[in-house]
Amino acid sequence: MTLLERTRIVQNTPEPDSLAAARSIMDALVAVLTEHAERYYQDDAPLISDAEYDVLVRRLQALENAHPEFLRPDSPTHRVGSAPLDSFEKVQHAEAMLSLGNAFDADELRAWHDRCRRRLEWDAEAEGPAVSTELKIDGLAVALTYENGVLVRAATRGDGRVGENITANIRTIRSVPLRLDSSRHPVPDRVEVRGEVYFPKSAFEALNDRLRAQELKPFANPRNAAAGSLRQLDSTITAGRDLAFFAYSLGPVSEPVAAGQRAMLDVLDGWGFSINPEVARFEGIEEAVTFCSNWTGKRDALDYEIDGVVVKIDDFRLQRQLGNVSNAPRWAVAFKFPARESTTRLLGILVNVGRTGMITPEAELEPVQIGGVTVSQATLHNADYIRDRDIRIGDTVVVKRAGDVIPAVVASVPEARTGSEVAWEMPGTCPACQQPLERIEGEVDSFCVNGACPAQFIRLVEHFASRDAMDIEGFGTKLAAQLVEAGRIADLPDIYGLTPDDLLELDGFARKKAEKLVAGIDASRSRPLARLLFGLGIRHVGRTTAEVLVQQFDSMAALGKADADALTAVDGIGEVIARSLVDWFALETNRKIVARLADLGVNVARLPEEAPAAGDDLPFAGKTFVVTGTLPTLGRTEAQDYIKQRGGKAASSVSARTDYLVMGENPGSKADKAAELGIPVLDEAGLLELGGRS
Ligand code: NAD
Repeated sequence: MTLLERTRIVQNTPEPDSLAAARSIMDALVAVLTEHAERYYQDDAPLISDAEYDVLVRRLQALENAHPEFLRPDSPTHRVGSAPLDSFEKVQHAEAMLSLGNAFDADELRAWHDRCRRRLEWDAEAEGPAVSTELKIDGLAVALTYENGVLVRAATRGDGRVGENITANIRTIRSVPLRLDSSRHPVPDRVEVRGEVYFPKSAFEALNDRLRAQELKPFANPRNAAAGSLRQLDSTITAGRDLAFFAYSLGPVSEPVAAGQRAMLDVLDGWGFSINPEVARFEGIEEAVTFCSNWTGKRDALDYEIDGVVVKIDDFRLQRQLGNVSNAPRWAVAFKFPARESTTRLLGILVNVGRTGMITPEAELEPVQIGGVTVSQATLHNADYIRDRDIRIGDTVVVKRAGDVIPAVVASVPEARTGSEVAWEMPGTCPACQQPLERIEGEVDSFCVNGACPAQFIRLVEHFASRDAMDIEGFGTKLAAQLVEAGRIADLPDIYGLTPDDLLELDGFARKKAEKLVAGIDASRSRPLARLLFGLGIRHVGRTTAEVLVQQFDSMAALGKADADALTAVDGIGEVIARSLVDWFALETNRKIVARLADLGVNVARLPEEAPAAGDDLPFAGKTFVVTGTLPTLGRTEAQDYIKQRGGKAASSVSARTDYLVMGENPGSKADKAAELGIPVLDEAGLLELGGRS
């Protein structure tokens, strides 16, 4: 049986109901965890996600607590990392490099602090002891020894006692100083500095693209890429890998340099190390809890992966008093973020037809829990994505569910293959109308170009009625499909001919609901022009683009007459959008749709409130904003309206021309892009302050 099969069995074994059963599941857990740890630490090629691994470790730990008589000396709960590779010279650590205990939620974090307080016999009434909070960088720990300020040796953590000598490779990392700067703080004769070597996300993506282009195996995640790149026998390979380093602690030192963690980080900074800028120090645990929960939503904004926050008792004297357990210090804990990734089986691939005819492959998955939500479908983006990642039906795949982004299959795990997996190919015809699909040269997506395709039309109707378009309350996917399938709507304007009686014939409609819906349809006739334009579903004309266009062209008629030159003359309108608009209006059927909508009383002219804002004296005049993530009080549209009312531009994507990123919880890739470009970030309060609240 393969390791993965054995793992799935242990994952699904119920709680033991006898001593013999407990022992056998503990043995099975030790066996599979040991193998996974080896794959992870020695081969840099994990088969399961960290969250799945951690759940199994927790289970083993709980069983070991309940049945200490079955505790095995080789249990992975007592070990750190795994044995160093033979290919490197071994380095004995003078002071063990330990792992960290975990806290999976706020209460576990508070419980850890309480345990420290009890051990230190802390005054029950007093706050403290103070803690330092640091982002938990998902890379690998190394120890750098400096003699008389010069880097003489670098070693991996290995099994905590013995690591690998990787000095030549570490020297290639630009953020590791080869000589320490003693101008701000004296440097002891001998000092060991510890920290994390990591792979910036942007460099990681570029590396994997390169590896795929050379038909080499890409790395599963930035952490594995960092470990794999650092443990190269040829340091010129490491040099080409853009690794980076954050320093965060000290090993043995010939003389003390600071009294606590936070102060020590300043000393490291003075010596010339990169210190993670997000460190903080708090007098009590509650502020640390808030720090952890804030970062849970913000982590995507960083250009490096973090998997939690490390909380440490700040005072070194207290740290010494607390000491260590077998494989971790008592004075520190890793607050782990909720899982976002898991592995599961890819059962099949379906294709979806979007409103523009775009075909998106969608993964059907064996249902899997990710961060408390069951995921059974995930996007696979397009055919190239599947081919480049060699994702096959039947594969074990890594699924990621991050923030408000749709779950996606991010990789396959080829090592888990049994031979029965099959490669997938994009079908040649549309699954809804059976017409041949087309793929435009140079583009990654395939399209169903049949204007009469029912699947596209259902999506278009749904889009037309959606909140950001004509905003018809109660008109969702299901109703759109029912009406189209029943032949009630054959064209968009048919929506405005619907009567309550038509709706009563459909499943799930009583008179009151039908009348309410028709009233909603009626109300949508007077929506602003930009909403109608967006609702028509013209390719590349998103909400923001529609608003920009309406500022320049005051009616559908004016837009219909505009040629490509007139369109591209508008700031923010490029050739692709212009072509798409011209093509759309060139079709007689589309012009008829507009004319019929107008006949049915739908507004086809710019409303006064849509007119361009006058005056450069508005607070946001000339500034471009991009809003991402969930803001505490303002909805996305409200925030954009707020910006526009103050003379600013609300753009949909981040570019060098963006002045501010307004970021809420669970931001997506826009935050990464903004961080990359060094664009200032505002939260909601910052936005309101800048705009002068009213
Ligand atoms: P850990 O990663 O949970 O915590 C200890 C490590 O945190 C330190 O060694 C250091 O490298 C790092 N760290 C980052 N920032 C730090 C900071 N500011 N201060 C101190 N330390 C910081 O523990 P671990 O023992 O290295 O490994 C366990 C991890 O490895 C778990 O996340 C586990 O899921 C994963 N793992 C996964 C598999 C798998 O098959 N997927 C197998 C084995 C281990």
